[in-house]
Amino acid sequence: MYLTGADLQRATAGQWLGGMPDAVTQVVTDTRGFTAGSAFLALRGPHYDGHLFAGQIAERASLLIGDHEGIKRWSELSCPQLQVNNTLQALGDIAHAWRMQLANTTVVAISGSYGKTSLRSLLQHGLSALGMHVAATTGNLNNLVGVPKTLMAVPKEAGIALIECGISECGEMVRLSAMVQPDVAVLTGITAAHGEGLGGMAGVVREKSALFDHLNEGGWCMLGEGVGSCLDQYGVARPAGAIDIEQQPLQWQLEGKKLRLDHGTEHATIELQLPARHWAANMTLAASLILRLMANRGVAVSLAEVAGALASWQPEPGRMQICTGIEGCTVLDDCYNANPVSMQAAINTLAVMQGNRVAVLGDMAELGAASDAAHAGLDVSEIDQLYLVGAKMEALAIRSPKARWYPDSRAAAASLSRENFGPTDTVLVKGSRSMTLEAVVNVLCSGG
Ligand code: ATP
Ligand code: MG
Repeated sequence: MYLTGADLQRATAGQWLGGMPDAVTQVVTDTRGFTAGSAFLALRGPHYDGHLFAGQIAERASLLIGDHEGIKRWSELSCPQLQVNNTLQALGDIAHAWRMQLANTTVVAISGSYGKTSLRSLLQHGLSALGMHVAATTGNLNNLVGVPKTLMAVPKEAGIALIECGISECGEMVRLSAMVQPDVAVLTGITAAHGEGLGGMAGVVREKSALFDHLNEGGWCMLGEGVGSCLDQYGVARPAGAIDIEQQPLQWQLEGKKLRLDHGTEHATIELQLPARHWAANMTLAASLILRLMANRGVAVSLAEVAGALASWQPEPGRMQICTGIEGCTVLDDCYNANPVSMQAAINTLAVMQGNRVAVLGDMAELGAASDAAHAGLDVSEIDQLYLVGAKMEALAIRSPKARWYPDSRAAAASLSRENFGPTDTVLVKGSRSMTLEAVVNVLCSGG
């Protein structure tokens, strides 16, 4: 990033105290790991106040950005200061100012209730393999703090920037959309998961679709599987020219692990590592986007080239990652997170695998009033051995007389460490982040 002092002032409508820096190339919000010459922006949270820490790095900072209240503490500090009304807003404003300088970058916003990181990872892998310079979200930097950081890290030379956008409260998506001002916006899928703060399914649909509110001029958007019908069902208008993955020329078919793609007269196949229908759907969405993104950038690629680029993709850690467990069993580590859609998708993948099918399933968090029904409603009929973990999973345990139930991941891990799984067993481990089921994966994969 490179923004002049004047750029920063324009972006934030802030006030200078003690001079203005020539330029800022990085804005940091955490004093830990602070690099000399960066600007420091003090965020406030319910349990912390960044203004309190500025003294630690002021001598090495090019600029301190604080709010009216917090900046009062900085009168002794000699470094230039920018006073703004709200520092979180200022962070977004600065990131937006930089985004508007990315004239040669196609900025792609990715949101949805599930599959954001999976799609970002597929696109990043595929586009890079096709020679594009790609910048993308790292870790889980997808909220009002993470998206600005992601945007500010996009270099001017990037051809494509992939920006994941995640929300938990009403009004956040429209802010992210305005900040990113995407050239391309994608909604991967919608469910009521994490919908507690968004007002149920109607609220989720309305909020998620705000991703499209600030599409850049000439921009376009893509609706993942089921999204178009979801918008229709809740009376949310589809954005003009939106491409629905279910109504476009790229068609797909999955037989076992073989994904066949058909695009008019072109055909290609990709051998997946697992017979996972949701991977096939994500791959198809990624392929369709890559064909369009490359065409937009004036690079002609064939479907076979796109398929070839995607074929070597590996899942992100904890998202159906295939590991070899003790005694040669196969472990599907999907314990990064869970909601009803991704949980059923994982169970369905296990259900079509050969050999003995074992599932270790933990609670799905944040489902509100729908929680009991969502747990009890999981279809586990094709699973041979079922281990359930957590209070919410009791709703399913009651319906599954052969299942074993544990209060938490520690108890489950202790019990599973005594099982003799072998080469013909596949063990799926999945639950919400708060269930910390990696304890079970650790036991199955390393014995401890
Ligand atoms: P978060 O908001 O937690 O960051 P995310 O939107 O980034 O989630 P991923 O991490 O990609 O989503 O995937 C979350 C879960 O959803 C994983 O278990 C993944 O396997 C599953 N998943 C990914 N794509 C799909 C899909 N198309 N259909 C159903 N489940 C999916
Ligand atoms: Mg994610």
